[in-house]
Amino acid sequence: MEVFDCIIVGGGPAGLNAAVVLGRCQRKVLLFDTAQYRNKYSHAMHNYLTRDDIDPAEFIKISQHEIFKYGVELANKKVVNARKNTEEIFVVKDEEGTIYHSKKLLIATGLTDPLPKIEGFEEMYGKSVFHCPYCDGWEVRNKSIGVYAKNKNGFDLAISLKGWSPDVAIFTDGVKKFKPHEKDELAANNIVIITLPVLKIQGTNGMIEKIVFKNGSHYSLDALFFVNGFDQQCNLAETFNCEMSKQGKVLTNQYQQTKTPGLYVAGDADKDMHFVVVAAAEGAKAGTIINKELQKEISKQRVKAAKPLNPIEI
Ligand SMILES: Cc1cc2nc3c(=O)[nH]c(=O)nc-3n(C[C@H](O)[C@H](O)[C@H](O)COP(=O)(O)OP(=O)(O)OC[C@H]3O[C@@H](n4cnc5c(N)ncnc54)[C@H](O)[C@@H]3O)c2cc1C
Repeated sequence: MEVFDCIIVGGGPAGLNAAVVLGRCQRKVLLFDTAQYRNKYSHAMHNYLTRDDIDPAEFIKISQHEIFKYGVELANKKVVNARKNTEEIFVVKDEEGTIYHSKKLLIATGLTDPLPKIEGFEEMYGKSVFHCPYCDGWEVRNKSIGVYAKNKNGFDLAISLKGWSPDVAIFTDGVKKFKPHEKDELAANNIVIITLPVLKIQGTNGMIEKIVFKNGSHYSLDALFFVNGFDQQCNLAETFNCEMSKQGKVLTNQYQQTKTPGLYVAGDADKDMHFVVVAAAEGAKAGTIINKELQKEISKQRVKAAKPLNPIEI
């Protein structure tokens, strides 16, 4: 039976950086990926030194080229199931029913972003409709920016966007939920509150021009940010009963370890900021600690195998 040192599920920045670290440690690594990385629909990537403005697809391509240099195997398949057997080996099943084995398992499967079910969102997502001002705020600085949010988190996003533009409006799509002190703060920041139910967003070639309301009126915009929650892209961590935060993110220790020995989670799937650089850094941390553990285990096995011991001391 072939046993990999580590199976990584998810080939976004977290999984890829773990793979490069482990590959360079001469570990036998298998990386599964379905190419649904979170910023796939984004026009360009930011906040990653030396890679400013790169197409996310190009970033993945370069990263894959680097992992191949170090002998990492890539399987473009979906993992549907994983468990531990009685010998503490991970048993991983892909969508075709093929079974793989590994000593360690890293889950780096990221999150997905459900879009509001409103005409125009899908077409403009990643081009002029965003959810992270740190990723896309600079490109629309000083323009007419809207925030679409039916839940309370829209308040914070709208206030924060004032750092990028003086012209910010918030759209609650029929929900009237701001508390008096929030209304005061929005007013003090010159943020217009529009509670009219939204019909659609309109624009050309993915670039928003206006938000249209059900009563026929509209508001002109250059960019729209939204808050609509997120979901885990894959439920593997849940099947291992990993501890989860209230927002549905996996809780790990500072080295990306879960409470299940040998199981690690890195990237957006766990509880930290959602940035490529953070995901990649977590992947690097996981890769390092996985390598250390593997080496310790090999050393202990050598001790067992070598008994009675005859220490070399000069
Ligand atoms: C529109 C948008 C723009 C963004 N812009 C930026 C930006 O400019 N700068 C920045 O720093 N961050 C940006 N982000 C955030 C960034 O995309 C994430 O922080 C980052 O992608 C997280 O990396 P990850 O490796 O954790 O997950 P992901 O990149 O989401 O990768 C997870 C991978 O796991 C795979 N996968 C999932 N389940 C399975 C399975 N069962 N089997 C096999 N494979 C599986 C998926 O196919 C995917 O390829 C943006 C996000 C969005 C939505």
